[in-house]
Amino acid sequence: MAGSLGSRTVTERTLVLVKPDGVARGLVGEVISRLEAKGLRLVAAELRTLPREVAEQHYGEHRDKPFFPSLVEFITGGPLVALVVEGPRAIEAFRALAGATDPVKAGPGTIRGDLALEVQRNIVHGSDSPESAAREIGLFFPALT
Ligand code: GDP
Ligand code: MG
Repeated sequence: MAGSLGSRTVTERTLVLVKPDGVARGLVGEVISRLEAKGLRLVAAELRTLPREVAEQHYGEHRDKPFFPSLVEFITGGPLVALVVEGPRAIEAFRALAGATDPVKAGPGTIRGDLALEVQRNIVHGSDSPESAAREIGLFFPALT
């Protein structure tokens, strides 16, 4: 069971994607190394190419944004690595490792800050809330929910 009693930190799960740019650039190991070094733990991992419908569902909150068609093309354009990652405050912990959405604004020491330059091709995705994590893990790894 996730969670714990008293003042101990609650264990969470989050969905992490190494996006197609990260896979094409050979950065899967780098991303996994960083999250494992932080103390997060892999629960599931799979290389897959997303069907358009899954990509559109995953990024449903951005459906009305001007960049949505381009984002769907990009995320379905090659294999990605989907991970479920677990640990204390895993959602916030991974978002901190990833850095800001715009890699130019992401701090040095973060995955995006160190390794990317373009806002769309920013290497990784991480769920942004417990609700998003539950929805996204259900979409990518239904057997885990
Ligand atoms: P995230 O939660 O930090 O990944 O950022 P968002 O949820 O705001 O956006 C989802 C993804 O869409 C980002 O990670 C980028 O890959 C892409 N994206 C966000 N903003 C833009 C933009 O202005 N232009 C383009 N082309 N892509 C964007
Ligand atoms: Mg987001």
